[in-house]
Amino acid sequence: MSGDKINYNCIRCGAPLSTDEIGLYKKMINRGAVEFMCIECLSRELSVSVDELRSRIEYFRRMGCILFL
Ligand SMILES: [Zn+2]
Repeated sequence: MSGDKINYNCIRCGAPLSTDEIGLYKKMINRGAVEFMCIECLSRELSVSVDELRSRIEYFRRMGCILFL
């Protein structure tokens, strides 16, 4: 929360992760996670479409979730 820029990469494919993807992973998998997956690998993991995951990010953001501010 201090604004430190830490670059995370997907543990599956190595793609650089956005804060949305990190927040989504925390929401969907494990709030205390320290390693994350990109939205595409997460969609495969959960058998949910990328579009569905993107709409969930928007939903969480609208709900004011702190992970997506
Ligand atoms: Zn990935």
